[in-house]
Amino acid sequence: MPAASVFTLPRRARLLPALIARHRDDGFLTPASVEAVARELGIPAAEAWEAARSSHEFRFDAPAGERACAGIACALHPGYRQPELPAGCLFRCYAPPASGDEQPFPAEMVREAGPLLGPTDRTWAGLERARRIGPAAVLDAIEEAGLRGRGGAYFPTARKWRAALRHGTPIALVMNAEEGEPGVFKDRALLCLRPERVVEGLAIAMEALKPAVTIAFINGEADPAAEAFELALADSPIAGQVLLYRGAGGYVLGEETALLNAIEGRRAVPRPRPPLPVDSGLFGMPTVVNNVETLAAVAVILREGAAAFRALGAPEAPGTRILSLSGRVERPGVYEVPLGTPLAEVLDRAGAPAQERAAVLCGGPSGGFLPGGLAAQPVLPGRYHPTGAMLGAGGIVVLEAPGDIRRAALTMAAFNAEQSCGKCTPCREGTPLLLEALGGNPADLAEDLLDAIQLASLCGLGQMATGPVRSALAFWPEVFS
Ligand code: SF4
Repeated sequence: MPAASVFTLPRRARLLPALIARHRDDGFLTPASVEAVARELGIPAAEAWEAARSSHEFRFDAPAGERACAGIACALHPGYRQPELPAGCLFRCYAPPASGDEQPFPAEMVREAGPLLGPTDRTWAGLERARRIGPAAVLDAIEEAGLRGRGGAYFPTARKWRAALRHGTPIALVMNAEEGEPGVFKDRALLCLRPERVVEGLAIAMEALKPAVTIAFINGEADPAAEAFELALADSPIAGQVLLYRGAGGYVLGEETALLNAIEGRRAVPRPRPPLPVDSGLFGMPTVVNNVETLAAVAVILREGAAAFRALGAPEAPGTRILSLSGRVERPGVYEVPLGTPLAEVLDRAGAPAQERAAVLCGGPSGGFLPGGLAAQPVLPGRYHPTGAMLGAGGIVVLEAPGDIRRAALTMAAFNAEQSCGKCTPCREGTPLLLEALGGNPADLAEDLLDAIQLASLCGLGQMATGPVRSALAFWPEVFS
């Protein structure tokens, strides 16, 4: 396989790496520096500027003061002060309040490990088996295991791979390690502590899909995770075959097509569907985007077999899931549990017993709040409550209610308004209205505004932005009156 290089992709795929390099050198971007990059690459300056402005981690003036986290776990901490330079989340929700650069994920914050987070033997047994049995049998094994994507949508992985393969044309494979949801830090845990398992899963996916290009897209701030992954990759059988790509932020990059636009050097906004990425994704190629945890599960399946994978979890959702727990718990961190485990059991073990657990936020800014007494559902894909709470990417924040609810709901509403990419009107105009009404007079919040945002927004960010607001108002209306 030829060595991976950004030069094998169309020229505009060099835009984001070039902007990131400029940003690192200068500390911020200016119209002149963006124009210079655009000129070098032969891209219209307006398009380069548009791409730069859509990336939330870029600054456009000299930074003044230290960046500190304004995410939910930090905002609830007694030591929290409104930061001079607020960050939506610094992903150290297990040790609030957080400031400065990202740190390696601490091993002691792995509270419960299973096949994904447990130790690796540093062999490539899963990849060797994949090579022995061939692509068709690899796909069968993934299908038999019942693996569903762990990014939050839970789409069957084998079905996604087959959908891309059926075109018979060159495929792009993208590992999504953008992980931009406040309160979720499990991909960072995997990449920092078990990078070999993720690399092996990626290698197996490459074996099955024979992609023309493979990209590992890692959050632009997650340097320790990127370094650990890069080291493991360099020491692996797929060394030199994967193009490393760093992001520049944006919760919307959780939407696959926005991520592909970012790689293509375009404004990082979702594309209308259809076409689906598996039909026409990166530069028009059928494209498979898989989350880090999904790829780690692929490695487990090829090593231990589909039956062993299915032995843990629920029949409709086999395997384990890594939960990120933070907020008012004694033992925050990551918990790898079999799917189907009652959430209340995990919360008890984490030190948030039922009698003290007044509320939980499930699913972050796209999910919703639940009174602690209702947090008894099994850990399974889907909604926990019609007002919004859901498993999503596995972020669980424990709260005191009603004391924390107002601040937590405002933090989520502010995050969604800030992260709206602005492409569609219901989300662009609606999410600031949600924030304004929540902070002022929620009685002004017409049900049809909530419905319009939920039903008419283009992507999940807008469609699910109403969850934290609806659920907070449904369960604790007195807090906002
Ligand atoms: S819903 Fe929001 S984030 Fe999604 S495309 Fe519309 S404006 Fe952008």
